[in-house]
Amino acid sequence: QTPLLQVENLQTGFKIDGDFYNAVEGVSFEVNRKQIVGVVGESGCGKSVMSLSIMQLLPTGIGKIRGGEVKFEGENISKLSDKKMNNIRGKDISMIFQEPMTSLNPVFTIGYQIEEVILNHEKISKKEARLRSVSLLKSVGIPRADKIVDEYPHQLSGGMRQRVMIAMAIACQPKLLIADEPTTALDVTVQAQILDLLKGIQEANDMAIILITHDLGVVAEICDEVLVMYAGKIVEKATVDELFNNPKHPYTDLLMKAIPRMDEDVEVLATIDGLVPSVMNMPEVGCRFANRCPSAMAECLTVTPELGEVASDHEAACLLYDESWPKDAKPHREGA
Ligand code: SF4
Ligand code: MG
Repeated sequence: QTPLLQVENLQTGFKIDGDFYNAVEGVSFEVNRKQIVGVVGESGCGKSVMSLSIMQLLPTGIGKIRGGEVKFEGENISKLSDKKMNNIRGKDISMIFQEPMTSLNPVFTIGYQIEEVILNHEKISKKEARLRSVSLLKSVGIPRADKIVDEYPHQLSGGMRQRVMIAMAIACQPKLLIADEPTTALDVTVQAQILDLLKGIQEANDMAIILITHDLGVVAEICDEVLVMYAGKIVEKATVDELFNNPKHPYTDLLMKAIPRMDEDVEVLATIDGLVPSVMNMPEVGCRFANRCPSAMAECLTVTPELGEVASDHEAACLLYDESWPKDAKPHREGA
């Protein structure tokens, strides 16, 4: 069966002072029907640019797909006209963002905005659209949905607004939902509720989700597979169980140590020293993580690691696992 989404060697550039720099560099992955795929990495690693590329929502004249393909149900959608892409967005593929206030229009009621989405894609009456809006609001756990439908975004809490965004996103029963840091702006309890909601909706609607987050803890909650991105590239790819039991890439290791520990009195959050290299200063060769990697070897500056199989259902791009390299290198973990 054809995967729902295939991203093949995607390269997305951004124009800065007249020159293009790639923010996404040769990213390939697949999403199957009903699958939840997590994309994790610090900010500036290309996660959002990657999802905006899939949706063709890159800022006009600034962001541009420079290579590769995005296929949805086998069809290349990376070169579709705006009009055709508009038919896909909101209907086949929807997206939600971190801060619902930026995507909700403050001057229209919640109901009006959900109805708009429905009427945009379906030929039904306003009345039917309104009834559907109320039942959508109920389905995302909004109490007193028949009242809330006539309220304005600012009258709701952050968690409720995110629920409204989810209701809008699933209004036309998309096959794929892209959720970009959907819980980052919310407090921990609400975060957990929204993740539960997403999982429930995924099951009820047979929908696939790409969940973008900087927090591996979020990935552990609901994802089936995970892609770890660093500096515009995928550096590790595995099932969630495999990744947590057997992390390979040194960057993944550091992300694991940075997972907030809710079970401790004090929230201990290890931060990773150093910064993701800027797109304008990407090293031409070598590993992009070398300047921050606790296991870096001399070769890491001159040889570019490629994504390769390190276990079954598990790939990593690191010279420590490249048969033809590490030589005198010390493995960074027991048994590696
Ligand atoms: Fe670290 Fe080298 Fe592996 Fe890059 S290739 S992650 S620098 S050990
Ligand atoms: Mg982002």
